[in-house]
Amino acid sequence: MATYLASIYGTEKDKVNCSFYFKIGACRHGDRCSRKHVKPNFSQTILLPNVYHNPSHDANNNMTREEIQEHFDDFYEDFFVELAKYGEIEEMKICDNIGDHLVGNIYARYMYEEDAGNAVESLNNRFYAGRPLWAELSPVTDFREACCRQYETAECTRGGFCNFMHLKEVDRNLKKELYASQRNYQREKRREERHRDRSHSTAAPETMALPPPPLP
Ligand SMILES: [Zn+2]
Repeated sequence: MATYLASIYGTEKDKVNCSFYFKIGACRHGDRCSRKHVKPNFSQTILLPNVYHNPSHDANNNMTREEIQEHFDDFYEDFFVELAKYGEIEEMKICDNIGDHLVGNIYARYMYEEDAGNAVESLNNRFYAGRPLWAELSPVTDFREACCRQYETAECTRGGFCNFMHLKEVDRNLKKELYASQRNYQREKRREERHRDRSHSTAAPETMALPPPPLP
């Protein structure tokens, strides 16, 4: 029985835990959902809900497709650089959905849970575009499970109101550049830490008393 419950945890068969919250980190019922949204105490993934604002969603938008993509690429870069300060990012994704629970959501999965925890703590004291940021640890681990399959291949009939992620693609070259530069940054940081550790450990023996001379 226990293995059965474990095998259905967070799936549609699970009558207790919400499969949407488990897979996508957000569910359209929010706090009124009849199933449980179990917030993780530890996770590699953080969620910043409702941050990216796509100008094309405004009625009086007059930006071209290219301008909107440029605006998005700048936004992606700003957040990537900011979030990479807390640790190495494995993946950062931004939703282009329009439903309240997914609109403008930013997800970042870190290499280490500890870094994700630090990011959440610090980002909750920050503002973006005049609004306070909200950050939380998210149960999302596999973005393939969270994404809308129809959206990837063709057009999803549910459009922006789909309950699975419709991810906005960032410029391919910019993405490559960002992931590469964060690896350099992390390498530099590790090297600095190692050097700091080494200078401590070489300092230590000098202050230690010499062992007594061996007895004849
Ligand atoms: Zn739910």
